[in-house]
Amino acid sequence: MDTEIVKIEVNNDVVNASALGEKDAAIFSEEEKACIAHAGEIIRNGGLVAFPTETVYGLGGDALNPESSKKIYAAKGRPSDNPLIVHIADFNDIYKITAGIPETAVKLANAFWPGPLTMILPKSDVVPKETTGGLDTVAVRFPSDLVAQEFIRAAGGYVAAPSANISGRPSPTEAKYVIQDMDGRIDMIIDGGENEIGLESTIVDLTINPPQVLRPGFITNEMLSDVLNEKVETDRAIIEADSGIAPRAPGMKYRHYAPKGTLTIIEGEREAVVAEINRRLEADKADGFKTGVIASDETIEEYAADVCKSSGKAGDQFAAAHRLYSILRSFDDENAEKIYSESFALDGFGAAIMNRLLKAAGHQIVRL
Ligand code: AMP
Ligand code: MG
Repeated sequence: MDTEIVKIEVNNDVVNASALGEKDAAIFSEEEKACIAHAGEIIRNGGLVAFPTETVYGLGGDALNPESSKKIYAAKGRPSDNPLIVHIADFNDIYKITAGIPETAVKLANAFWPGPLTMILPKSDVVPKETTGGLDTVAVRFPSDLVAQEFIRAAGGYVAAPSANISGRPSPTEAKYVIQDMDGRIDMIIDGGENEIGLESTIVDLTINPPQVLRPGFITNEMLSDVLNEKVETDRAIIEADSGIAPRAPGMKYRHYAPKGTLTIIEGEREAVVAEINRRLEADKADGFKTGVIASDETIEEYAADVCKSSGKAGDQFAAAHRLYSILRSFDDENAEKIYSESFALDGFGAAIMNRLLKAAGHQIVRL
């Protein structure tokens, strides 16, 4: 299959101007609008289009068409019990795909939509089981990315989309990674530049009481608790990953994001971590392995690895999240075999970063 690749850039000057009340300016050129309309038509005809969002790139199909969902699983090589998130671009569209929504959903939508939050709700009959991996619930998100919104509207309002990577690989945060994984497998790729956040949405389950976070993300438990006025906890299976408890989000049980080399996280005081990683690097080099390190701007000069990547200034969670998946992919591009990472604090957005890093490391962590 020939994959069409188009570049669409939101004109941010216009976005800022319209925020100031100048509403006439065009966010997209006529040519770009025609491209997005064409992408929407591909979806309505049962095809697949990868598109940018503020979190990661999505691999979109018509959420209400079971054949489209089957094609998504095939293109990704994804197990079909792992449900897809349905993306909408207007809050009112939620009513058609859900069977009654709780007050909590309205409160969270008012606070965080459009944005990086996915809500699990009871599904209505129009959503096929192929989209929800056989479940009676549906995951719904209203992304803030303006290309995503325009595309979802052009596609008919309901776009099922997992991340646009081959199953098991890091989610793509730039179009070049989507092309690496999906060229020739889908109809079209919309290149909207680098994703703003770079980690997948927070998933909150509103079908249980109290609500539970099934996947940590940019919207933290504290932010959810503040809006709902009740304590929101994380699914225990996520925190105690080795406990054998099944996670409520089926996707969380799969190995994910892993580079081809082995990744080990080293946690402890700064000097001790640097010394331990360097000791291991030396041994690996003596054994003939190509080595890699994920460090901070402050420590990166201290490591003697073949491939050293900085996650940004120590404590800059936004930078670390933004860079994580491209760093993991770059180790594959450079054939790194033994990789070590410094650890990240768990507060705020850090819970999401450590969740993904631990999965990438197959939960190999050494606490000094
Ligand atoms: P991805 O689209 O690759 O970000 O993965 C979507 C995630 O949402 C996976 O971890 C799914 O298991 C999870 N998910 C989607 N729908 C549901 C649902 N109805 N209930 C629980 N988890 C869901
Ligand atoms: Mg994914």
